[in-house]
Amino acid sequence: MKRFFKILLWTLLSIILLLCILLAGFIYKIKNGFPVSFETEAPSIHFPANQKAVLLFSKSTGFRHAESIEAGKTVFEDLAKKNNWFLYSTEEGGVFNPEQLAKFDAVVFNNSTGRVLNDAQQEALEKYVEQGGSLIGIHGSGDDSHHWDWYEKNLLGSKFSHHALHPNVQEADVVLHAVPDSLLSASLPSTWKHTDEWYVFFENPRAKGFNILYTIDGEKINPSGNLLWMTDKNFGMGKDHPVAWYRATGKGRTFYTSIGHDALAWKQEPFAKMLENAIKWESGKLKK
Ligand SMILES: [Zn+2]
Repeated sequence: MKRFFKILLWTLLSIILLLCILLAGFIYKIKNGFPVSFETEAPSIHFPANQKAVLLFSKSTGFRHAESIEAGKTVFEDLAKKNNWFLYSTEEGGVFNPEQLAKFDAVVFNNSTGRVLNDAQQEALEKYVEQGGSLIGIHGSGDDSHHWDWYEKNLLGSKFSHHALHPNVQEADVVLHAVPDSLLSASLPSTWKHTDEWYVFFENPRAKGFNILYTIDGEKINPSGNLLWMTDKNFGMGKDHPVAWYRATGKGRTFYTSIGHDALAWKQEPFAKMLENAIKWESGKLKK
């Protein structure tokens, strides 16, 4: 009998250890992604004359929002057709070189997570924005898996803490705010209902000088994360909980929205319209 309990104890301990290893691996995968490989060869791209060029980048080495990424590609293809944009969609980082980046009017990180660019490619994007380019980030592009200070400071203005988990997607009223750049809010509804995985950041980007386009009421959702100490932590994103914000960075512009966890967001007209406005605003040529 004694032997039986010994075997039982060791079996239980082994199972617990195995579960801990799997959990640690899962958390590591979400935070860092692996394996990480960088594409360094510049692709061959023919840029048509007289067309605005948009780079849609969907590489992920962290959590992959597969459904949303694919839905996003389809919506951007439709927007490109409608607006006569040249859309270059890729999951490879080779295009992030100074010569080719300079030909794009906007770069979009479509739920791009993890370390996706090498040092030289990151630097090329930083210079591109500071010298007049523009960067748009969608949902997962704002999580903490990128490990890139410039990106966090200039696109997000704050560090990602966690997302709600009880449950992870919750319905909220998305409320429009008056912003200095009215081109960004053109034809957008003042409020719309949407169910998404709401992100909580350690600081409110409003306090960091970003212009806030849309907020939700963070007191009407349960923002608790999965970890014991992550309950009811709003970090200054309570009632005023921004979900879309922007600012000038150097001579360029950055725009981020935490909306877009799954394909549902892409079926919401205001979401697609907001991104369409952001692209048009980014290059300062809104055509009505
Ligand atoms: Zn998500």
